[in-house]
Amino acid sequence: MLPENFLQSIEHVQGLNKKSFEAVHNSDEQITSVRINPAKSIQLFSSNEQVTWCKYGYYLQERPSFTLDPLFHAGAYYVQEASSMFLWHIAHQLFGINTQKKILDTCAAPGGKSTLLASYFFDGLVVSNEVINSRATILSENIAKWGTGNCIVTNNHPKSFSLLKNYFDALVIDAPCSGSGMFRKDITAVEEWSLDNVVFCSQRQQKIIADVWQSLKENGYLIYSTCSYSEEENEQILDWIVDNFKVESISIPVEESWNIITTQSNKHKAFGYRFYPDKIKGEGFFIAVFQKKEKDIFVKYKHSSLQQPTKQEVDLINNFLIQNHELKFFKHNNEIKVFNTQFYNDVLVLAQQLHIKNAGTTLGEIKGKDFVPNHELAVSTLRLSNIATLELDKENALQYLRKKEFSVTSQSRGLALVIYNGIGLGWIKVLQNRINNYYPSEWRIFNK
Ligand code: SAM
Repeated sequence: MLPENFLQSIEHVQGLNKKSFEAVHNSDEQITSVRINPAKSIQLFSSNEQVTWCKYGYYLQERPSFTLDPLFHAGAYYVQEASSMFLWHIAHQLFGINTQKKILDTCAAPGGKSTLLASYFFDGLVVSNEVINSRATILSENIAKWGTGNCIVTNNHPKSFSLLKNYFDALVIDAPCSGSGMFRKDITAVEEWSLDNVVFCSQRQQKIIADVWQSLKENGYLIYSTCSYSEEENEQILDWIVDNFKVESISIPVEESWNIITTQSNKHKAFGYRFYPDKIKGEGFFIAVFQKKEKDIFVKYKHSSLQQPTKQEVDLINNFLIQNHELKFFKHNNEIKVFNTQFYNDVLVLAQQLHIKNAGTTLGEIKGKDFVPNHELAVSTLRLSNIATLELDKENALQYLRKKEFSVTSQSRGLALVIYNGIGLGWIKVLQNRINNYYPSEWRIFNK
């Protein structure tokens, strides 16, 4: 049952049909959707019903145990609520094929929007930020599994980004909110809902927008979203943005058959897009786009310097990687990492201003005369060479992910990449009569 004070508070929001809205919340229908990782597999789920506004989104008929699917751990897909995938359509409308852009995902954990952005801006830069450290760790893990190598994960308060004036082509603010859009999926969201919290969230949303605003370029886009139905967190925030910054509200074309409700804010008629679970196949969601119309000011960004690997070290690494001149190597805490050359300078600038949790792909460490590959390399989409691979069946793949023993019939001894359905899971070392399982302990699965 939905709280009466909640229903009263949203009575007048645009597009709400109280009767069908309540009915859908009283039914036990659950919708599961996933977004595949185009850099790892495009065949996966291709016979399933598609999420119409996202090229790589699919509905599943029932919710499987994702924990028991090795492809889930391999970052072959991300379990994401379908309405949120509308961000793909927005990116497509705003940028089309111009994907070499710099995007800040301000409130990024656990990584749904960031992995979508990493796929869309595959040759761009995604700075994926989360203020809460423990959540930034989960974010970093999900980004590493996604493997696209074009992300920098930061753990900063939004205010820290005000130092990066006019830096990003788009800011995505998927703001912390009162969470009513998740009522159907999450009973605790219903229990925790209160009018006071709506007011608190709306003030926090304004603060976050103000904190990061300066880091957006002139003509860059602010993409604001919540999973709340409350006007205070949606259309009223749009009016607050127009009152405080020089912006233009951007209208996003939507097909009528999608049943997304286009709304306009009271005061400035700014456009917003509402997703109601009784109208679309997904959960409650709100999203809006503005273009910044303030002049850039000239800024000279300070940057740090990072240690470079020696020629010998690079030669050792190149035994593992197919030559790619677009890659720039660097060292951090003895680990060798790699980033797209085009955005390497951004790594240096961000390293100077922010707390970076991870950047690009960690390739591994040089120990003595050997290169010891990192797990991130195994799950990355970089092209590897001269590596022995070992395809596992599902049971052995799960044993590997549990970090338990398993047996394989391999002729060759030494380091090997274990794969499942052709997708990298991690490293092992095949010895005379046992296998060393190098799956990261902190990522292992615990169920039977
Ligand atoms: N974008 C994420 C995704 O798609 O997976 C979901 C983000 S969730 C709606 C909002 C995030 O904002 C949470 O991870 C939360 O920790 C973070 N957050 C909480 N308070 C914040 C604040 N004051 N400033 C910035 N982020 C905050």
